[in-house]
Amino acid sequence: MKDTYKHKGLRKRLVEELLQKGITDEAVLKAILHVPRHLFFQGDFVDFAYEDKAYPIGDGQTISQPFTVAAQSSLLQLKPGMRVLEIGTGSGYQAAVLCELGVDLFSVERKKSLLDKAYRLLSDLGYSPELHYSDGTLGLASRAPFDRIIVTAGAPKVPDVYLNQLSLGGKLVIPVGNAEVQRMLRVTKTGEHSFDTEDFGEFRFVPLIGAEGW
Ligand code: SAH
Repeated sequence: MKDTYKHKGLRKRLVEELLQKGITDEAVLKAILHVPRHLFFQGDFVDFAYEDKAYPIGDGQTISQPFTVAAQSSLLQLKPGMRVLEIGTGSGYQAAVLCELGVDLFSVERKKSLLDKAYRLLSDLGYSPELHYSDGTLGLASRAPFDRIIVTAGAPKVPDVYLNQLSLGGKLVIPVGNAEVQRMLRVTKTGEHSFDTEDFGEFRFVPLIGAEGW
């Protein structure tokens, strides 16, 4: 599959839509303008790649809605070179956007088939995050600490392990709630045992499944 002028035009329209919906982080919008989202889709859904919606990617999972990807990426307040951990590689789209933002990315996925597909696509596109096949509810102790952690599946609570794997001043962006609807939380590590939590409203994710998840 190719990236054509038509796809580029559709991406420009998507970015304008995200701007209207309140996404103002220019680096994030530029990354979304750059990453060919249609390549992360399969079969029949390709035509919908530039609508602001979530779609199935197989194995009962979904590629997050562009607004959600943009919102989480903005909430992370990233700077190039930061060490970032993503939980839930899925299609690899959010990972590509994070790589485009110049961070040093580690991403964990519990479904091997999705991880393999994401690995091939991300490599083809020239991105090289470090991908891990493991239970992301345990974080990634071997690579900690992280400046940022982003969780792209809905958690029943904030797992302590993420807070432990954050560096001082680090931030965790995580949807927390029940199986249907969650609230987007940003937790900042202000001291070794102190944290600030901010709430950014309702979002919907597939469940985070594992030892510290559902
Ligand atoms: N970031 C992805 C969103 C995928 S949906 C994208 O841009 O496409 C959420 C993903 O989290 C699914 O692929 C699901 O398999 C994965 N997931 C759920 N629980 C997990 C866990 N404990 N560890 C790692 N990945 C998990």
